[in-house]
Amino acid sequence: MAGPLIVLDPIFKIYKTKYMAILTFETLSFQQIGDVLKITLLKLYTTEILCSEMDRISPWKLIDAHTIEFTKIDQEKAEIKFSHMFSKALDSLKTSLTGNKATYLHRNSGIPLFGNVAFGIVYRESSIIEIKPMNGCNLDCVYCSISEGLSSRKNDFVVEKDYMVSELFTLLEFVGEPVEIHIGVQGEPFLYGDIEGLITDLQAHPMIHTISIDTNGTMLSKAMIDRLALCTKLQLNLSLDAIDPDIAKKMAGITNYNIKHVLEVISYASARLNVIVAPVMVKKYNEAEMEKVIAWIAGLEVQPKLGIQNFLRYKTGRNPAQEIPWDKFYKLIEGWETKYKIKLRWSKDDFKIRETKKLPKPFKKADVVNAIVKSVDRFPGGVIAVAQGRTISIPDVEFRRDMPIKVKIARDKHNIFVGSKV
Ligand code: SF4
Repeated sequence: MAGPLIVLDPIFKIYKTKYMAILTFETLSFQQIGDVLKITLLKLYTTEILCSEMDRISPWKLIDAHTIEFTKIDQEKAEIKFSHMFSKALDSLKTSLTGNKATYLHRNSGIPLFGNVAFGIVYRESSIIEIKPMNGCNLDCVYCSISEGLSSRKNDFVVEKDYMVSELFTLLEFVGEPVEIHIGVQGEPFLYGDIEGLITDLQAHPMIHTISIDTNGTMLSKAMIDRLALCTKLQLNLSLDAIDPDIAKKMAGITNYNIKHVLEVISYASARLNVIVAPVMVKKYNEAEMEKVIAWIAGLEVQPKLGIQNFLRYKTGRNPAQEIPWDKFYKLIEGWETKYKIKLRWSKDDFKIRETKKLPKPFKKADVVNAIVKSVDRFPGGVIAVAQGRTISIPDVEFRRDMPIKVKIARDKHNIFVGSKV
């Protein structure tokens, strides 16, 4: 058996004829290109199966982009054989935007959603719980604190929506009090094929009072905003780094960035949803744009909140400039608050962040743990190993699936684990 049997979201339509099967999938789409069946998962991640391999299941053909018909095999056997084949094909999954390797975390993947800061669920014992259903971004911002975007060469992760929701809801039972869910992915969340379904599921949970989501706004349309506006708990945190089109392109790191579209999105969404606009001010890049942003926001009929952020240098980020000293930054902000009569400073109290129940850690710093390697890590050259319901990042280890490994834990804060091979 080649790895765990993957649970797809089949809406199997069963033919009455005994030796015929039809497999239909919501999250997969298919395209036959020459002698290859190209499979797209959640609109962004692709892999392939050779048509000759498919022939070994039985004669087959595509009925539509989501449906395969097999003849000369019954439904159950076709489902099992195709699932095994697809599990194997996932080893070659790639993010179509970049060609970077991608890992699909589904309920039978054997990879927990707790333990890593880049994917899954990050619970910092506060009333804001972060969820990260995917990685990958369609921009390439000059200041990106995680070096994400089109030039990224990191490995990506994508999580099955129902797996994420069920693990999160179990955590909510443990937390036992109302919380905000922050969809704060390392990338652009509206590239995630199941994002609207995810938001709808979160909206329905009585213990979630707010669903906030960081987005660059490029993927949003008026029709989508109209649908999102039905989610009364939703708050969009939108980037807006410049008004001048050329400076905006420079900040976004791509030549076809369309600031006009993003401004329309902000204006339309602000009239329908709770919106926070969050520009990042980068020394010598867009300092002069900040007053234009404030004036533009102040001129909107329905004003979103505006929270200008100071650019900070990060070890793993793009660092095109020096930081603006905090005293100078706050002086600028205060001056603009007075000049434009607008609130620009927001604190923890504005967002009512509280401490919540501590989640037990199965192991702690300096412990030596027996784990099993399950995936490559976000940064090439390292692996993700699994032990006791947590993932552990281990740098400088060659990936071999299901290899046992002894790990010395070097970091355990907030149930995020990093270790080294012993
Ligand atoms: S939109 Fe966000 S994730 Fe994407 S490159 Fe810009 S800062 Fe990074």
